[in-house]
Amino acid sequence: MTCIFCKVLAGETPGNILYRDDQVTAFRDARPIAPVHILVVSNRHITSLEDAATEDETLLGHMLLVGRKMATQEGIRASGYRLVINTGPDAGQSVFHLHLHVIGGRLLPFRFE
Ligand code: AMP
Repeated sequence: MTCIFCKVLAGETPGNILYRDDQVTAFRDARPIAPVHILVVSNRHITSLEDAATEDETLLGHMLLVGRKMATQEGIRASGYRLVINTGPDAGQSVFHLHLHVIGGRLLPFRFE
């Protein structure tokens, strides 16, 4: 198994797991860019949003709602948060396993640093 997120999901790499259900798992980003930085990861290995199929529509919607749930759990729902799916080279996608960033806890500039 070479995918780092598959290893976290399988418990082979330590991960700070905050939430898990039959479709997704959420854990803290190892290199947070804000006080709250959580990744909501599909349990099934999908390389990127580009490889998601029409049948994955429910999964993709679920990822957004779990992102909001994480924001609630972290106490940043009222202050605001950003949900991001980096897709491909220009977006800087670095892990090729579908994931949603949940970022907040500070004022976020429009662009990522
Ligand atoms: P992206 O650049 O959108 O592909 O995001 C990948 C994210 O995964 C980055 O923010 C990394 O800091 C994070 N990351 C990489 N490896 C791990 C890991 N083992 N546990 C938690 N987060 C990780």
